[in-house]
Amino acid sequence: MRTYNIPIFVPHKGCPFDCVFCNQKRITGEIREVTPTDVTEIIPQHLKTLPKTDRYIEAAFFGGSFTGIPIDEQSALLSAAHEFLERGEIDGIRLSTRPDYISEKILDNLQKYGVTTIELGVQSMDDEVLKASNRGHTRADVIKAVELIKRYPFTLGLQMMTGLPLDTPERSTETAKQIIALKPAIVRIYPTLTIKDTYLEKLYLSGKYKPQTIDEAVELCKRLLIMFEENGINVIRIGLQATDEICENGSVVAGPVHSAFRELVESAVYYDKIVNATQNCERNALIAVNPREISKAVGNRRANVIKIKSEKNIDLKVTGDESLSKGEVKLVCF
Ligand code: SF4
Repeated sequence: MRTYNIPIFVPHKGCPFDCVFCNQKRITGEIREVTPTDVTEIIPQHLKTLPKTDRYIEAAFFGGSFTGIPIDEQSALLSAAHEFLERGEIDGIRLSTRPDYISEKILDNLQKYGVTTIELGVQSMDDEVLKASNRGHTRADVIKAVELIKRYPFTLGLQMMTGLPLDTPERSTETAKQIIALKPAIVRIYPTLTIKDTYLEKLYLSGKYKPQTIDEAVELCKRLLIMFEENGINVIRIGLQATDEICENGSVVAGPVHSAFRELVESAVYYDKIVNATQNCERNALIAVNPREISKAVGNRRANVIKIKSEKNIDLKVTGDESLSKGEVKLVCF
C-alpha cells in the first residue's frame, strides 16, 4: 500500500521566534493565511489525482508550528479535514509543530479532530546548537513534549537538522542517538540550507557560518540513516526535494542542495557495502542487488563505479536479483 500526503501549508504569521535559518518573518507580507474553505478545496483537488484503492492518504498540515496558531483557528482547519476523514475519503491527518507548542489541552484537541501523526521540529538535542540557531526551545522541551505525546495514540515523528551553527558531525550523531532513545516511529533529516533574507545568510556572508558541503552532508546523513534504520526507525525524508518551493524559486544561497539528495545518501550506503563485498576481488567484480536498487548501487552519474575504480582499481558491474531485499549486496563473481 502506498502512502500519500495532501500538503496544506500553514505559515505561522505571528511566529514570535526567529530561527536563524527561517525566512518566514521576512516574507510575512506575501503569506496568505490558509482558511477552512481552502482545506475543503485543496483535499478534493488532490484526491482526484490519487488512486482509489490500495492507498493510505493523510491531509498534512505543514509549516512547522501548527499548534502555535490560536486554538480556535486550529480547530477550524482540523474540523474541515475531519469531515473527509469521517467520510473515509482520507485515512489520517498529520501536522508538524514545535516541541514547546505541546500541552495536554492542545493534544486533547488534536485527538478530538482525528489527528493521527504529530511531527516535532527538534532540529538538535544540543542546547548550544539550539541557542546559536535561535530556536527558542531547549532539549528539555523536546523530552517533555515527547513524553506528553506518548500518552496519546498519535504516531510520533521527529525532525532533525545537520550543519546548524555550532553543530558538528559529532553533535549531530549525538542528537540522533538521543532521538533514537525517544523512540519515534518516523524521522526526517534536513541538512541546513542558507536561504536568502535570513540571519544565517548574514552569518554566511560575513564568514561567521560555514555551510556543509554536499560531500560532508552526504557522509553524515549516511551515518545517521544507518543508525536510525538499525534501530527500526523509518527515515521518511532526507533533504529537501528539487520540487520543494524553496529550491524552485532560487532562494538557496548556499549549502548542500541537490535534486536527489536522498539518493546520494543511499548510494553512499551502497558504496560501503560494495567495498565490503568486493574486498577479495583484484580487478573485476559483478555484484547483485535488488533490481529496483540498481541505480542507487551504481550511484549518481555512475559515482560508485568510478570511485571503486579509482580507489580500489576494480571494474565493477551491477546486476539485479529479485531474491535480494532492499539494501542487500551479493558478490556474484570476480
Ligand atoms: S522555523 Fe522558527 S522562525 Fe520559522 S516559523 Fe518555525 S518557529 Fe518560526
